Amino acid sequence: MSKTIAILGSTGSIGTQTLEVVEANKDLKVAALSAGSNVALMEAQIRRFGPRLAVMGTEEAAADLRQRVRDLDVQVEAGMEGLLKLAVLPEADILVTAIVGMIGIRPTIAAIQAGKDIALANKETLVTAGHIIMPLAKEKGVRILPVDSEHSAIFQALNGEDGRQISRVLLTASGGPFRGRKRTELEKVQLEDALKHPNWAMGQKITIDSATLVNKGLEVMEAKWLFGTDLDQIQVVVQPQSVIHSMVEFVDGAVIAQLGTPDMKLPIQYALYYPERRFLAGERLDFAKLSRITFEEPDMETFQGLPLAFQAARQGGSMPTVFNAANERAVSKFLHRQIRFLDIYEIIRASMEEHRVVENPSVEEILEAERATYEFIENRW
Ligand code: NDP
Repeated sequence: MSKTIAILGSTGSIGTQTLEVVEANKDLKVAALSAGSNVALMEAQIRRFGPRLAVMGTEEAAADLRQRVRDLDVQVEAGMEGLLKLAVLPEADILVTAIVGMIGIRPTIAAIQAGKDIALANKETLVTAGHIIMPLAKEKGVRILPVDSEHSAIFQALNGEDGRQISRVLLTASGGPFRGRKRTELEKVQLEDALKHPNWAMGQKITIDSATLVNKGLEVMEAKWLFGTDLDQIQVVVQPQSVIHSMVEFVDGAVIAQLGTPDMKLPIQYALYYPERRFLAGERLDFAKLSRITFEEPDMETFQGLPLAFQAARQGGSMPTVFNAANERAVSKFLHRQIRFLDIYEIIRASMEEHRVVENPSVEEILEAERATYEFIENRW
């Protein structure tokens, strides 16, 4: 069946891979694309995929883009107003949320209200606003289809099962580039070391989040919302080869896992065509060559991103927003070589200590918690 998609963040890692999936499947159409500032790539994408709407992060970038595509029949918009238009385009069936940051929340809510299914990559949406998104999706009868490989694996393992019979969600983690190191060994690690992910090629921010295990912490929170499980039912298992993408244990003790080579196009395509499976070119697992799959417990003492995330999730309300915002700002500082690797944890911890939890926060309160966290960090670091 032919489907039409709109993409938030089409020039990023997930966005470009989504377009590769579109390229390989002739029955997917693109209604709208958006990016922050990468005008050159956006122009190329417009020429290739012919959307009728393109949205850039700023008015300046939009003006530049308008000039470049003035020979084409495409409307160019800027900022949140543009993203909200993109979210509700009548011809789009699915919104792919491949944008980075909390800027994804409002357009996602708008798309759900307009009855669009969501192919969700943007973690921040569920981490900070899961209590708004999930009930709204249920009320509107729209599907939240996970794109993150771990959540897609869980979603696939749950296919045809009754979610009430989940005993544990076993969320796998590669352990990142610093797996096996102790805290003292992390004191002087450089940006280049943290950017070397052993198995996955991803955007810079999420690659650092994998090195700190903050990414796994965000995924724990996402899993809780997506699958309606208690935090105590979610266990992180380090599986360094990234062959098992996650598992579900059911009440009878059966464990169902999803395996595959690390390729984000699989979960992206699965979300776009769910419940159908389509051919996907690429490497296959070769069990004759795959000599072993190993498991470890995560080192929660060294990699504090994970215990801090559990703490934020337990405190609930606006605290996951603070955890996420503090991490976002800290990672940005680390990427600009303004702080050391371990300072990321200190910034998150101090920001969480500073914050007073708001229960059941509205979108405005979530954005206010984000703003206050940024302000606190700017005044202190
Ligand atoms: P990238 O940094 O590679 O891409 C982010 C995208 O968002 C780019 O297209 C960027 O545009 C766009 N963007 C940034 N700011 C704005 C703005 N103000 N308005 C419109 N668009 C904007 O990120 P990833 O693709 O790695 O990640 C995207 C999301 O998916 C994140 O939430 C991440 O956690 C999640 N995710 C990513 C995975 C991965 O493998 N990469 C796996 C699972 C989840 P521009 O290029 O112009 O800056």
